[in-house]
Amino acid sequence: MRERLLMQASVLEPPSHRSHRTSVAIVGGGLLGLTLALRLAERGDAVTVFESAPALGGLASTWQIGDITWDRHYHVTLASDRALRGLLGDLALESQIEWTQTGTGFFTDGRFHSMNGLLDFLRFPPLNLIDKLRLGLTILYASRIADPTPLENTSLERWLTRLSGRRTFEKIWRPLLRAKLGERYREASAAFIWAIIVRLYAARRAGLGSERFGYVPGGYATVLTALQARLEAHGVEIRLGSDVAHVGSSADGKGVTLTQAGSSGEDFDRAVLTVPAPRAAQLASGLSAEERRRLQSKTYQGIVCASLLLDEPLGSYYVTNLTDAWVPFSAVIEMSALVDRRHFGGRALVYLPKYVAPDDPLFEHDDAAIEEDFLTALERMYPHFKRSGVRAFRISRVRHVFPVATLDYSRDVPAISTSIPNLFVVNSSQIVNGTLNVNETVQLAERALTELTNPVVSR
Ligand SMILES: Cc1cc2nc3c(=O)[nH]c(=O)nc-3n(C[C@H](O)[C@H](O)[C@H](O)COP(=O)(O)OP(=O)(O)OC[C@H]3O[C@@H](n4cnc5c(N)ncnc54)[C@H](O)[C@@H]3O)c2cc1C
Repeated sequence: MRERLLMQASVLEPPSHRSHRTSVAIVGGGLLGLTLALRLAERGDAVTVFESAPALGGLASTWQIGDITWDRHYHVTLASDRALRGLLGDLALESQIEWTQTGTGFFTDGRFHSMNGLLDFLRFPPLNLIDKLRLGLTILYASRIADPTPLENTSLERWLTRLSGRRTFEKIWRPLLRAKLGERYREASAAFIWAIIVRLYAARRAGLGSERFGYVPGGYATVLTALQARLEAHGVEIRLGSDVAHVGSSADGKGVTLTQAGSSGEDFDRAVLTVPAPRAAQLASGLSAEERRRLQSKTYQGIVCASLLLDEPLGSYYVTNLTDAWVPFSAVIEMSALVDRRHFGGRALVYLPKYVAPDDPLFEHDDAAIEEDFLTALERMYPHFKRSGVRAFRISRVRHVFPVATLDYSRDVPAISTSIPNLFVVNSSQIVNGTLNVNETVQLAERALTELTNPVVSR
């Protein structure tokens, strides 16, 4: 009855007063843009996604390595990833997650050490008992800090040295920080390590004390296929290979005009940029000087990440942390220690990530040079490793992956609403005191939704 009345009312309404579907352009078809697109389309908006790459997924996109399709960068889901598991639940994939207990290793002074539990920790040779005690207490103490705000104005190096001691900082912390942040660890605040420790603790708690990591069979290819199907079912238009060159106010000043290189502009009621902060500043050149400064000042780390398909695994750990400076990559990630090898035709899938600054010369090295360098290091580290067992080797390069948590980061976070009416910026630079992962990305999308409907503009 109520529905009939509503229908009658809409027929009686003059056309100009009929409810208009808000048209929204989302720039970036990564998980942030796609989650936003889904939630906006569910609310009834007419959504168009512009993605410059030929496929969806961004950092979580998939590719062919040898004869298998898997993620371009390694991904795991933690038991504590509630927002992500919620999204997977909406896509009927949450129940398919396969959980595995994985191991962590350390490669230090040319030797491998297991790091799975107290006994391993006590046996860990590079540190003496007092150093170990201080290191253990540092991690425990960090895990108990509820409000990281005071850590934001404390230098990461100073904080870790004070708690763990200079020797442990030099031997363990500095190499690990360098692996992820390069020399920029010097600019980072203590909140950076706090976020990592808290995430791992939450995972352990949710995994009932053990390090259980999960994945959806098929990897992110399965997730992205389901997400795309759901978006299309909601009428979302997905435009691949669509590189947006400029975004600004529309001629009537009410909406937003999107321009792609070599084409005329297209108007939308609203637009959301989900691209990395420096790119957002380039696209929206009409933002205020202060807005552009905030976006441009974020110090991003990039990545050169090799995927290897091997006949045999290298070791048994999911993550092997490296502290020896001569190794040319940041860590060894054995996806096949987590994912059943039958998904890889019985072979082993390994990632060798190297985190670097966006202007690092490594981005200019050709594939053959990187492959030679990385394989030579593997031969030195794993005596049983044979080049003849390498079935495929592929390299991904991304200049903007995550912004470094510099001192007082939260005081200078770019706003979601902008001074250009109905233009919004939502990206990883707004993840404060967290690590970059899909759970944070989905949470950010959900948080941004509220602001998209109630913009708060600060110029
Ligand atoms: C090596 C690595 C390992 C990771 N491991 C994990 C893990 O184990 N677990 C986990 O949960 N998360 C992990 N992540 C993080 C996860 O991938 C990210 O949280 C997530 O993919 C971020 O999505 P996004 O949409 O914010 O950004 P992006 O994926 O960067 O999406 C931005 C999109 O914008 C597009 N774009 C840029 N400019 C334009 C333009 N001008 N016009 C149109 N489109 C444009 C890009 O092509 C891209 O697709 C990992 C990431 C990396 C790199």
